[in-house]
Amino acid sequence: MRDVAIIGAGPIGNYVGYLLATAGLDVVLLEEHAVVGEPAHCTGIIGMDAFEQFDLPRNAVVGELKKVKIISPHRKIFDYDFDTSQALVVDRSKFDRGIAQMAILNGAQLMMDATATGIEVLKDRVDIKIRKDGRIKRIAAKMAVISTGLHYGLQERLGMGKPRDFLKCAQVETDVMDRNDYVEVYFGKRLAPGSFAWVVPIETGNGPRARIGLSSTQSASAYLDKFLVSLNSRVLNAEHLDVKRSAIPLTPIARTFHNRVLAVGDAAGVVKPSTGGGVFYGLICAGIAAEVVKKAFKIGRFDQRVLSEYERQWKKRLGLELKIGYYFRRVASKFTDAQLNDLFEVITSDEVLPLLRRKAKFDWHKDLMLSIVKQAAVRNLFFGSLMKM
Ligand SMILES: Cc1cc2nc3c(=O)[nH]c(=O)nc-3n(C[C@H](O)[C@H](O)[C@H](O)COP(=O)(O)OP(=O)(O)OC[C@H]3O[C@@H](n4cnc5c(N)ncnc54)[C@H](O)[C@@H]3O)c2cc1C
Repeated sequence: MRDVAIIGAGPIGNYVGYLLATAGLDVVLLEEHAVVGEPAHCTGIIGMDAFEQFDLPRNAVVGELKKVKIISPHRKIFDYDFDTSQALVVDRSKFDRGIAQMAILNGAQLMMDATATGIEVLKDRVDIKIRKDGRIKRIAAKMAVISTGLHYGLQERLGMGKPRDFLKCAQVETDVMDRNDYVEVYFGKRLAPGSFAWVVPIETGNGPRARIGLSSTQSASAYLDKFLVSLNSRVLNAEHLDVKRSAIPLTPIARTFHNRVLAVGDAAGVVKPSTGGGVFYGLICAGIAAEVVKKAFKIGRFDQRVLSEYERQWKKRLGLELKIGYYFRRVASKFTDAQLNDLFEVITSDEVLPLLRRKAKFDWHKDLMLSIVKQAAVRNLFFGSLMKM
């Protein structure tokens, strides 16, 4: 029997695997695909805090976020240069593989083409049913970590629930005309209803490229088509684009622990609701999960009373950020273009801009949001939108 089976070799599962293998536990990582990190749907923007706090593969970096242009629905542009990098942009496939490699080098086993199709928690172990090479096999472990990203079947089977709300996303990575060092963020109901669109420049050594995408409360790919048309002269080979459709969970699942089981990353629904970025908060949860699992092995107890410590700790660290971020997003997603324009004007005004400069942090948005809502003009906008909910 293995010590820990980690189901899903994305960045968060791999990071838990790395931490637990480093601690000397016998870890197996199960991945349904043939290659770790493929297919990649993500834009790959990861804040500097994450690179400072965690051991992350820097050889996957293909860009940075230092300059940003925010474009309002009425196409007014606010641009800002932060002086220093706020975030790095990674090649997500390479990034995921780099963390998997760290886990393997420390003794974890990676099993590819292994899809977990069932999970059963027994008195002395967890039994995981996997489909591999067309055959059904079983893996027994003292504990399991569910890190399956957007797949919630195993959690639902254990009564842990699934997120209540999601954003729909679509993105392409493509050659572009211009070499540009601004990350562009576009707002507008006709462009990306309920959310925003982006153009993120990357450098791969083969000429200028960009990740162009959007998230939305409505079908994202139809809006992406229109967005690409609006950028048309900048996008090369527009007729051969490989559109990646995906989603982002906006709320945590009902319970992120069970007897002998924890859920982490998107599988737990722990994602920054303001932007939809999930890697940093997922890594924070990975660190907390690893400490709780190590303690469980130390005392030889894997029941939910011991494992609930995981949820208590991540809620203490991230709970308010998630709640306020989600609330802010819900209210703002109901804004009309005229209200978004008004919000843009207030936020970029001489009175509010210094506040923005002081409070803006790439991964922590609660304090900034609360300060902005205190502005009378923004409060009125929010009140108007609340009436419509
Ligand atoms: C368009 C888009 C852009 C994004 N941009 C950013 C960004 O810029 N920055 C950021 O921080 N976040 C971003 N995110 C979010 C980010 O991609 C996720 O939060 C992150 O990938 C979560 O990592 P994870 O390891 O939890 O899950 P995943 O990366 O989804 O990995 C889960 C893994 O589990 C495997 N798996 C699933 N089910 C099974 C099973 N039953 N058996 C075996 N294996 C299984 C999958 O194949 C996959 O490899 C973006 C998301 C989208 C959709």
